[in-house]
Amino acid sequence: MRSVSILGATGSIGASALDVVRRHPDRFRIASLSAHRDVDRLIALAAEFRPARVAIADAGLIDALADGLRESGVDAEALAGPAALEALASDPAADTIVAAIVGAAGLGSTLAAARAGKRILLANKEAVVLAGALLIPALASGGGELLPIDSEHNAIFQCLPRGYDGDPDRHGVERIILTASGGPFLRTPASELARVTPEAACAHPNWTMGRKISVDSATLMNKGLEVIEAHWLFGAPASRIEVVVHPQSVVHSLVAYRDGSVLAQLGQPDMRTAIAYGLGWPDRIEAGVAALDLAALARLDFEAPDRTRFPALDLAYHALEAGGTAPGVLNAANEVAVDAFLNGRIGFAAIATVVRDTLERLAAEPVRDIDQLLAVDRAARDAALRSIAERA
Ligand code: NAD
Ligand code: MG
Repeated sequence: MRSVSILGATGSIGASALDVVRRHPDRFRIASLSAHRDVDRLIALAAEFRPARVAIADAGLIDALADGLRESGVDAEALAGPAALEALASDPAADTIVAAIVGAAGLGSTLAAARAGKRILLANKEAVVLAGALLIPALASGGGELLPIDSEHNAIFQCLPRGYDGDPDRHGVERIILTASGGPFLRTPASELARVTPEAACAHPNWTMGRKISVDSATLMNKGLEVIEAHWLFGAPASRIEVVVHPQSVVHSLVAYRDGSVLAQLGQPDMRTAIAYGLGWPDRIEAGVAALDLAALARLDFEAPDRTRFPALDLAYHALEAGGTAPGVLNAANEVAVDAFLNGRIGFAAIATVVRDTLERLAAEPVRDIDQLLAVDRAARDAALRSIAERA
């Protein structure tokens, strides 16, 4: 029996993870759940899954949480604030942590889980982009294991040999190939991109996801963040990580080997496959995902990404090559710019411009420690807000 904590339980990944857990009452029980502000949803989930501890990140909502749990007859300890997320992530009562918080807000809990030697099912890619240089050593010293559940990285994990140790050359790995759906604006002319709405950006053709990652998929920044994520998880340099657009989202990613073999993982565009892989690993467990019918699909298409209409992809490659704190600057500026776009303060095309401005304003430094990374994250958010104000 594994005992699972879901950080970000009220989100899209949280819902998919709970759906897999619900199918296997004999294998998994929920140790704890967390959310940002959605107290009602969190209480409803607690009433169903009966965790021992429940946390709300917005500390102002602690009374609402505690009262609601009592009224619903749920006997769980209520906690609040960012420190509570770290407490859940390192709680000895849980062996598996689903890191499903969106953005750099997930960093503290993801790092805490790594230090505590947990099995981490990692969806929170922003934490790796910002702090891969600290997270990977923390995992090694904590003695836990990281199972990627971002679908591309889960596919790569499945296509790499068991026991892969982060050295592509030792295992004959030539290239890592990430597939990208291309998002909702794959065929939208450049002249129209400035006017697209948040609703259109969030209407992804293949996946149903949270709003932030949906916008990232539309700009291709999501793929850029995933290139950086792949660098940290699999030890490959930027020059050996490729992106190919594959509109059907059936081939989730591929690994090319020295001998000419290319291994791919295929499946429905349904996050429950990757989550079930991580929860059950090394066993394969039922995920509720429909079988893949290749004859009905009939074809799989691939094309090169358009780096002119979607400049965010190259910004991410440049940040990875600059190294040090540059990926953290990229991530923070992107979080601020996406939020401004979702709130109608800037247009879609300005997201990449704000990120570029911010990268130009803050020089990359070698990574020292967490306090430095958090300070750079704050400085990048301030610089991005100034860039947005100048454009208004
Ligand atoms: P979402 O917006 O649907 O859910 C985010 C969750 O994080 C919610 O439970 C929310 O309450 C919590 N949260 C938000 N801000 C927080 C804060 N400041 N402090 C604490 N908790 C906070 O997002 P999602 O689509 O589920 O994505 C979650 C993560 O998984 C992201 O990093 C995303 O890039 C990654 N991911 C998602 C998908 C997908 O299909 N949705 C696929 C791959 C990777
Ligand atoms: Mg992905």
